[in-house]
Amino acid sequence: SYILAIESSCDDTSCAVLKNDRVLSNVVAGQEIHTKYGGVVPELASRAHQSNIVPVVDQALKQAGISKENLTAIAFTRGPGLMGSLLVGSSFAKSLSLALNIPLIDVHHMHGHILAHFINEDQKTPDFPFLGVTISGGHTQIVKVTDYHEMEVIGTTQDDAIGEAFDKSGKVLGLGYPAGPQIDKLAQEGDPKKFPFPVPKAPDLNYSFSGFKTAVLYFIQREVKKDPDFVEKNLKDICASIQYTLIKILFQKVEKAVKQTGIKSVAIGGGVSANSGIRAQLLSYKNKGWNVFIPPFQYTTDNAAMIGISGYFKYLEGNFAGMEVTASPRIEM
Ligand code: ATP
Ligand code: FE
Repeated sequence: SYILAIESSCDDTSCAVLKNDRVLSNVVAGQEIHTKYGGVVPELASRAHQSNIVPVVDQALKQAGISKENLTAIAFTRGPGLMGSLLVGSSFAKSLSLALNIPLIDVHHMHGHILAHFINEDQKTPDFPFLGVTISGGHTQIVKVTDYHEMEVIGTTQDDAIGEAFDKSGKVLGLGYPAGPQIDKLAQEGDPKKFPFPVPKAPDLNYSFSGFKTAVLYFIQREVKKDPDFVEKNLKDICASIQYTLIKILFQKVEKAVKQTGIKSVAIGGGVSANSGIRAQLLSYKNKGWNVFIPPFQYTTDNAAMIGISGYFKYLEGNFAGMEVTASPRIEM
């Protein structure tokens, strides 16, 4: 099969073409416009999707070396995400499916982040059941995955997502949006134990990050009062300490989930799984007999290839959407 997939849930317009479970092309157009606002502006995002979508789809087809007429099905992100952004991708996918008279497949964005592990790059893929740990700009979840589309959220954040904790802490330090990748880079040369930050409490397998963000803010405000150049002088150590604490918060509950479920296969996914510290920490659990899975870098932040692979497994089951399907900003796993 040849599946064309579209992802437009937030601020990246992406289109991929897959031949069965292999990626032929995966074009991602980011949106520079949001950097100067320090976060994603929904109105501007949907407008940028509108101007990006046609060229991005054309480029994906061109790179894949096939024409529209060769396509077998169209997959798209139904949600969750920003309504205005999702509408651009879903409307486009629907019209394409209608025009080409081929099946339409709706995909859950978070399924995409998890199923990215099954994109065939001749690597070892997870066996069911496994624990999917989705860490991104809007989610922090521990998910019990029993089949391609059978997923149960067994832990989630009660307030901010871990990506927000990275981004908002970075904002306090004067880093641009998104700060996550910059903190990662700066942390590599810093001392992770220089500044101890608190680990917020949350029940069971759940998370809380809003207290952490506030603690960083107060700490910086207090230190800057004493020394206006505090951030400048200690930036690498502050970033390393922030990242160290976020990794600690994350893996405390992952360890607990492994113990509780007895499932020792863990796969991370979502934008924050690009983080080098988190990748290294997960790899270290191999010593404890865990099977660990880290997605290729290009499939961590939002991309259409992950929507394509999710669509492919639905395609094999004949699980298609009708034309009445609607974009849904909030949908259950
Ligand atoms: P969701 O998937 O929950 O709807 P999203 O689609 O907006 O959210 P993603 O694109 O999956 O989010 O991830 C974006 C997030 O990943 C941002 O918060 C960004 O800072 C973070 N991120 C990306 N690279 C890194 C990194 N190397 N270290 C830490 N965080 C990172
Ligand atoms: Fe995402």
